[in-house]
Amino acid sequence: MDDPALRRLLAGFRAFRARHYERQPEPWMRLVREGQRPEVLVVACSDSRVDPALLLGAEPGELFVVRNVAALVPPYAPDGAEHGTAAAIEFAVKVLGVRHVLVLGHGGCAGVAAARAGTPAGCEEFLGPWTRTVADAVSGLDEPAEMERAAVRRSLENLRGYPWLAEAERAGLLAVHGWRFDLERGRIEGYDEAAGRFRDLAP
Ligand SMILES: [Zn+2]
Repeated sequence: MDDPALRRLLAGFRAFRARHYERQPEPWMRLVREGQRPEVLVVACSDSRVDPALLLGAEPGELFVVRNVAALVPPYAPDGAEHGTAAAIEFAVKVLGVRHVLVLGHGGCAGVAAARAGTPAGCEEFLGPWTRTVADAVSGLDEPAEMERAAVRRSLENLRGYPWLAEAERAGLLAVHGWRFDLERGRIEGYDEAAGRFRDLAP
């Protein structure tokens, strides 16, 4: 294993192992014995800079995470095709019983930009149709931050199109949240549905 990138990752794993198997094994062993019971599902972007556990200081077992290009929740489409994000949402809501579903968009999101500006050359097979999920939500917007916020809002709307999720929300068992991490300023803003705007959540 002489590739520096992989060497670095294996050094990271050794540090993880030292912490969770040697120095403080009990919380980890409890997760092994009892399984996971995360209270929060996060839908985040695949972008390498926006790891939700890292940003939010979450420990193993705290977050059930699905990451995809642009942190999108696709529309409810139970058509028997392979819907990875929907599968994660279904498992988190129906089996894990998460109490929060958090869509975490971010600043400088190339996936959201592609929804407006067009798919990178050669990526029409999968990336094109995927980012077009939010094309109409971002059309007419020029400011990247506004497009990213619109994409988060669209994902919240789409979440509520999953009937069992909407039902859990109506029953007060679950809440949905739309957040956007601003990389440049180091801020997290959340969509305030009553006010119809995003506001700083951690001033
Ligand atoms: Zn992104």
